[in-house]
Amino acid sequence: MTTTSASNSRDITEQKLGLRSHESEMSAFEHLVQFYETDAFLVDSVSGFIATGLGAGDTCIVIATQPHRENLEERLEADGLDLAGARTRGEYISLDAVEMLSAFMVDGLPEPGRFAEVIGSLIEQAAQGQRRVRIFGEMVALLLMEGNRSGAIRLEELWNDLSKLHSYSLLCAYPMHGFDGEVYEQEFTEICQQHSQVIPAESYTTLASTDDRLRTITLLQQKAHSLEVEISRRKELERRKDEFISMASHELKTPVTSLKGFLDLLQRRLATQGDEQSLHYLARMDAQVQKLTRLIADLLDLSRMQAGQLVYREECFELDGLVREIVENIQGTTQTHRLLLDGETQARVFGDRDRIAQVLVNLLNNAIKYSPQADTVRVHMAKDHQQVIVSVQDFGIGIDKEHQHKIFERFYQATGPEEKTYPGLGIGLYISSQIVRRHGGRLWVESKKGEGSTFYFTLSLFQEGMK
Ligand code: ADP
Repeated sequence: MTTTSASNSRDITEQKLGLRSHESEMSAFEHLVQFYETDAFLVDSVSGFIATGLGAGDTCIVIATQPHRENLEERLEADGLDLAGARTRGEYISLDAVEMLSAFMVDGLPEPGRFAEVIGSLIEQAAQGQRRVRIFGEMVALLLMEGNRSGAIRLEELWNDLSKLHSYSLLCAYPMHGFDGEVYEQEFTEICQQHSQVIPAESYTTLASTDDRLRTITLLQQKAHSLEVEISRRKELERRKDEFISMASHELKTPVTSLKGFLDLLQRRLATQGDEQSLHYLARMDAQVQKLTRLIADLLDLSRMQAGQLVYREECFELDGLVREIVENIQGTTQTHRLLLDGETQARVFGDRDRIAQVLVNLLNNAIKYSPQADTVRVHMAKDHQQVIVSVQDFGIGIDKEHQHKIFERFYQATGPEEKTYPGLGIGLYISSQIVRRHGGRLWVESKKGEGSTFYFTLSLFQEGMK
């Protein structure tokens, strides 16, 4: 197949994909976005775009991931295009998206000056001899998939700005699964707004007749409507569940507080009477009441966090003293584990001392709870120039990779047959991560199943003017 006949077949493919027919004779700036469900369809669509360009005498630039470039080039060659020749003549330029990004990204955002320099000179070189330039780029999609949504949108804007200085046509592509979940609706809309033409994914685009397309749109509208209804129903249920947790924890708190009061009273009385046996039973009751009190306190914290009503004290405190105090307290509650503390920070941090203590208590209790066969827990603290880092390491059951990022979510418990035997509500880590985040720090875990876990959290150092 010659380049020209390949381009004819590509024109048909472009029409099939829904590209407007005048794309082949681009004059004004065109900024297209293709959504796709499978890589095979992406390759199909992009090869159409590139083959049409090469057939029309344009210079084509592909800035994509290595696997996509390989698949695309295989496909273009299979379709009869002399890619090696086009490459030698400078008509086909293929670049790695990750490398290109690193040439102009600064602190998670594209730096406008560098972008204009790097991409601008690339386009100038491609446009030599009055050739029109066609670009397929997926750097934006890479940023989006990394979770850098603002970076992706900023990069789209920079591409639009650059079109005022250079003439080119640009095709972007995003995988549909990059937009899962309601929170992405806004980004999706913003990304569409950055483009002059939006091409739907294959489940719509590959439909041949107008009638099929209308039926598909109608079905999608119905699906969108029922999903919206379902989402509001679930939100209402979620709201009621939160309300129930809040009410239940308040209702439980009062009787438990009074139980604790009478327990203390009874303990004092029996102590004066020297009734050791009853005191022994009371001490066990007291331990259970304390457990209950902690569970209720966690539930109350959770409700307050959900409602944005958790109050944080703002004070400056010495971290080392706090960590030492908590380690000693928790050591007093366990006979099975030795808590080994090392490192010092001599740092002052700013925030709520009791809440940071709560994080440490939670991590230490978990370390003990989830390492029944071990006898040590290591606590380490260190300081670098901007922050302190505290870690709690156990040698227990560990956490599978697939659960590691989920355990910080509300009510999430790793559900292996082994974990089921450990008591808990699955909210301690959620509360801890919210507290740390509120202090401008980060809480994360490194773990290997069967070998133990290390939880780390960071806090910023106190600086004058923080109050
Ligand atoms: P829970 O009350 O269930 O302990 P958390 O929020 O504190 O709730 O922890 C969530 C889940 O994370 C736990 O159910 C457990 O599966 C896992 N987990 C937490 N800490 C550890 C640890 N040190 N070792 C192994 N698994 C842990």
